[in-house]
Amino acid sequence: MDVFEKCSNVGPVQDLMDAGFHAYYREIGSGPDPEVKLDGRRMIMLGSNNYLGLASHPSVKAAAMSALEAYGTGTTGSRCLNGTLDIHADLERRLARFFHREECIYYTSGYMTNLGVISGLAHRGDFVIVDRRAHASILDAAHLSEAEVKRFRHNDMKDLERVLASCGQAGKLVAIDGVYSMDGDIAPLPRIVQLCREHGARLVLDDAHGLGVMGESGRGTAEHFGVEDGVDVLIGTASKALPGLGGFAVAERQVIHFLRYTNRPFIFATSPAPAVVGAVREALAVLEREPALRRKLWANTRRVLHALQLMGFDTGGSQTPIVPIIVGTVERTFHMWKALSDEGIFVNVVLPPAVPAGSCIIRMTFMATHTDEQIDRVLETLERVGAKLGIIQDRREEARKAG
Ligand code: PMP
Repeated sequence: MDVFEKCSNVGPVQDLMDAGFHAYYREIGSGPDPEVKLDGRRMIMLGSNNYLGLASHPSVKAAAMSALEAYGTGTTGSRCLNGTLDIHADLERRLARFFHREECIYYTSGYMTNLGVISGLAHRGDFVIVDRRAHASILDAAHLSEAEVKRFRHNDMKDLERVLASCGQAGKLVAIDGVYSMDGDIAPLPRIVQLCREHGARLVLDDAHGLGVMGESGRGTAEHFGVEDGVDVLIGTASKALPGLGGFAVAERQVIHFLRYTNRPFIFATSPAPAVVGAVREALAVLEREPALRRKLWANTRRVLHALQLMGFDTGGSQTPIVPIIVGTVERTFHMWKALSDEGIFVNVVLPPAVPAGSCIIRMTFMATHTDEQIDRVLETLERVGAKLGIIQDRREEARKAG
């Protein structure tokens, strides 16, 4: 048996690619701004996670360039040996201060942050308890930890309670997203915090999509609900509202110290490049000093969600700038993607296992920097395409039957 045999088939998208639907790995010729260049034309970008538009903010770019000038292109080493620059330590201090936590540890990616934190804190004999829709990196981390993995139904607090009760006196780590990256819905954090307390479980919150978006000051989903004290380890990334690369965890000093000296995904990886660190430091400062960006992001989000629901699209449980349109089958979703793409609108197609079978989605994300005119055009196009493909009509039909 040749281990390469499996490589001849990449799964359900193969047929669609053969039929000319190339929705993935598209080569974009510009930054993740509200409009991007692609195949020689301009498209409205609804596929980035650049929520506050900071990836092209002048002061963020300038900070990246000055760090590059001062420190060169790469650190060529792990944090624990030669790869800690003063700007890494400064960024960690700034993040800890921003979140009102004792310490911060900054990893080379968000994915590695989850791998590191969860596998570092839960070991064989413990339980890692994960929401069924949690990000892939949380689940991978849970498996890497060698703890027993238990999953509960998405945002279902009765099920979480049942799972927690089934774990007895063993160590328990609950790991969830704050804002779910495909559905755009929010974890019911106050109840989760309460259940963790009642059952003696520690809570790790991956707030990759909440940072800069949720909460009065942009501290995320826990700030939004007023339960920051109930989150034991808060994880964020620098791949979205803070546009750069890397991820971080903030927590009490002892926990971060332990991870710094024992955690393989932290120790055995080269530290983030200076330009990235410079950019993220400045992006954090902009996030703090320009709350108007967050307000505009929410104005855009509310407008879009309201309009799509009125048109009759199914946007699932979205309450955030991540707006899915639930289309259904793989084929139908690709047809919608193609129609939008032909109209100059960049959206993402999300298939199982990232979403449940039969619930394929067009995933859109909105930015503070989308103009009202761009949103007008998006809404007008979605309504026309949705009607033409029968997606809106079907939805109205379902609502009529249900009601
Ligand atoms: N957690 C969540 C919820 C995410 O959406 C992502 C990435 N999209 C990650 C973790 C991984 O972060 P990164 O891309 O920075 O590695």
